[in-house]
Amino acid sequence: MAIRVLSQSLVNQIAAGEVVERPASAAKELIENSLDADAGRIDVRIEGGGRERLQVVDDGVGIAPADLPLALAPHATSKIERFEDLNQLASFGFRGEAISAIASVAHVTIASRQRASSEAWRIESRFGEVGEARPTGAPEGTAVEVCGLFNNVPARRKFLRSDSAEAARITEVVLNAALAHPRVAFRLESAGRKVIDLAPSPGRAQRAAEVFGESLGERPILLERSAEFEEGHHASVGGLICRPSSMRAVSRLQRIFVNGRPIVDRSLIHAVREAYRGLAEPSMQPVFILFLDVDPGCVDVNVHPQKSEVRWRQPSAMHRIVHRTVLEALRAEDLAVSGVSLLGAPPASDGQSGGAWRGNIVARGTEFQRDPAPSAAHAWVHGLVGEAPPLMPTPSAGGRFLQIDDTWIIFSEGGDLVIVDQHALHERIMFEEIRARVTSGDLLSQQLLVPATCEVPPEALARLDDLRVLFARLGIELAASGPRSLSIHAFPGFLAARRVDPAAFVAKVLASDELLQTALTASDAESKESALAEVLDMMACKAAVKGGDRLSPEEIAQLLEARNSTARSTNCPHGRPTSVRIPIADIERRFGRR
Ligand code: ADP
Ligand code: MG
Repeated sequence: MAIRVLSQSLVNQIAAGEVVERPASAAKELIENSLDADAGRIDVRIEGGGRERLQVVDDGVGIAPADLPLALAPHATSKIERFEDLNQLASFGFRGEAISAIASVAHVTIASRQRASSEAWRIESRFGEVGEARPTGAPEGTAVEVCGLFNNVPARRKFLRSDSAEAARITEVVLNAALAHPRVAFRLESAGRKVIDLAPSPGRAQRAAEVFGESLGERPILLERSAEFEEGHHASVGGLICRPSSMRAVSRLQRIFVNGRPIVDRSLIHAVREAYRGLAEPSMQPVFILFLDVDPGCVDVNVHPQKSEVRWRQPSAMHRIVHRTVLEALRAEDLAVSGVSLLGAPPASDGQSGGAWRGNIVARGTEFQRDPAPSAAHAWVHGLVGEAPPLMPTPSAGGRFLQIDDTWIIFSEGGDLVIVDQHALHERIMFEEIRARVTSGDLLSQQLLVPATCEVPPEALARLDDLRVLFARLGIELAASGPRSLSIHAFPGFLAARRVDPAAFVAKVLASDELLQTALTASDAESKESALAEVLDMMACKAAVKGGDRLSPEEIAQLLEARNSTARSTNCPHGRPTSVRIPIADIERRFGRR
């Protein structure tokens, strides 16, 4: 076939395929035009899932009669003039191709009356053939009606789903617009039935609460933070997140908006999920609506025809801000609820009274010279010092708690009977402690007089240089000692104190090849951090008291005290609960007292 220049109408139809994939994408473009036109209310009416008829009516600034033909022409826009404008984009539209693309695959009618003007005009286009503008009667604003979408492109029509599925997608589009623009009233009517009717709201949080309703669970947490995210540029992070107890098995209820646009960004979803790590079972998903507002220059929205993906100038900076904002909001809430009174006997002041401490570990001296405040006994629970106290016949709690089966600690708090899983709670405490120390670089390690050796696969040895750095952060010093063996020269004091075998521990970490692979090769900071968190978790698990370890009253008191001062102490690092609460009223009822 000879080379030919494509006719403009064919070019438009091809472009239409990118911009208007289905009725919902047409709805999105029309709604964005209304928002760009400063609309205070937007009414959407659809028939047949939007394919038969899709109408968007606004009360915005309107279109001048002379501009009506231009609105239908390709690459005609009132929103940018120069290429540089793309760097400071404040409007949704800018390509000037949406209406012309829709008009090439549908019968489009635009009626508009400019604000403060007395006359309205309308123009029609039938599958790309534009008629003349004529006077008509219409209120201020613009009404765009799209009928018979894809009637001239049967191939595309085949890709559409049922009317109700297409209508559901349009509902989604309208709700996203409503979330991002709380001050605008939105209505959606499908086949004459009212689907959405939202009056203007004072702010995004209120609108989000109206839209998401019950799905956010009880008392959702408000996010509000502004932080420098690259030099001279601030990002603001707002929105609502659910409490860990309202997490779901599905990820449908997660929205991210950047400067008012709904976007898909897996890395930022990861940042939010990571902040919930350890607060629920790992498969559970948080419900959240995140509004990110940044300088338009920090983000490129022009990477996707439907503008649903963006490219950040500094993706990791954005990830960090989102992660930290959510993490801090969750921590603040967590600490606020756990600030309850301390139960049980007061901790012994010198730690010796709990029995003979066989403290012979290097870490002890150094630790307390720097920071003499905590008693040795108090330090035990954080794993700072010495050995776990020897197991001894435990008193039936002289205080107000009981240890049952050397595994559960039971006491009353705030009208509830609380049963604590001692291992789960201690694991969480150790995890937070170790993480804080790894972060601040003061994880104390102990030189081993006789280095331990550990058999390793040759692949691991080949990566020894990288491994050494990773392990050094964890207080573990490694060297090659043969073709298939490593020697361990230093090991964290608190693990040694818990009689954790250095060789077995290192072998266990090395055996998790997938984890090491991520820790060593992941290019993004977040995967590296999650891999590190997993190793920390293995340490915390080893270092924590086990179910079956008998504890002294002092130790129990310390554990419960640490529970009140440790972030996220409601769940162990794997997300399982550390305690179960039974209202005492329920118990009274079972005894027939109420
Ligand atoms: P873009 O939004 O990228 O500029 P469109 O094809 O979506 O391109 O719209 C073309 C032009 O038509 C817009 O630039 C705007 O001037 C005008 N327009 C479209 N819809 C409306 C509306 N609802 N109210 C006022 N003007 C509109
Ligand atoms: Mg547009």
